[in-house]
Amino acid sequence: MELAARGQNQAVDLSSFRDLPLPQGFRLLRIELVADPMLDAIGRPALAKATIENRTIAIQLAAGQTSEEMAVSIYHEVLEAMTIGVPFPPAAVRDFTEAAFEQAAKRAHRQHGLASKANVVIYLHEHGFETSS
Ligand SMILES: [Zn+2]
Repeated sequence: MELAARGQNQAVDLSSFRDLPLPQGFRLLRIELVADPMLDAIGRPALAKATIENRTIAIQLAAGQTSEEMAVSIYHEVLEAMTIGVPFPPAAVRDFTEAAFEQAAKRAHRQHGLASKANVVIYLHEHGFETSS
């Protein structure tokens, strides 16, 4: 498939996400690649990890992922971190499980393509995160 092949050659520009304003006064501080293997909260190998602090979100991605995997990881971590971080998460995501975040991230990648500043904000709006307030 030509489209898929072209997608694989595209890169996600991680530096473009620096200091990205997110809904509800949140900010995406940075997305960085990490060479060492990462573990999640219960010790399983993880492709990505988000740290939330004072309305800022920092995301670490395991190195060696394809652009598609990185995009899904970014969509997943941003939505999950916002849901955990805001005081009143939208009803659409309040009860999301880990599997639901992953499904939403894969759907976002299919619909919007690789993660970009604009796509991430649109995706948050689609899940009920308003820019104002
Ligand atoms: Zn997750």
